[in-house]
Amino acid sequence: MYNSRVKYAKLRGAINSRVEFTRSGCWKFGNNSSYAIIYFEGKGLRAHRASYEAHHEKRVPKNCYVLHSCSKKYCVNPTHLVVAPPGNKRVVSWFAKNNLSLQKFATRVGVSYDTAYRWVKSKNRRPIQLMRERIKSAFPDCPLAR
Ligand SMILES: [Zn+2]
Repeated sequence: MYNSRVKYAKLRGAINSRVEFTRSGCWKFGNNSSYAIIYFEGKGLRAHRASYEAHHEKRVPKNCYVLHSCSKKYCVNPTHLVVAPPGNKRVVSWFAKNNLSLQKFATRVGVSYDTAYRWVKSKNRRPIQLMRERIKSAFPDCPLAR
């Protein structure tokens, strides 16, 4: 959709002109505490995803999440936005926030990459339960382990 540099630059301009730069480093977009929408060239876009694409000048891969490392849904600071792969949202967001790749996670909890991948992709309870148990012993401070 925004495959040209000119469009990315325009979109950046549209976003940045409405941003409130906060002391915490977050770029607050909109008045709501939730995801904001920016209307750009006739389309409503989720502002944080649009900001990621505009500032990095690349598309978010299909089905991927754009997550906030700062946990502020209204934030559009591109350095606070992390692309995470599709899968169980709680799990992938935890990975992203802890700067963990699936490979690192697999190594740390002692399973193969394929197993870790299956867990993350699964929507079933059992693999998530298994993963929680592993996380609990490998990462005792993890909120997911509770
Ligand atoms: Zn932020």
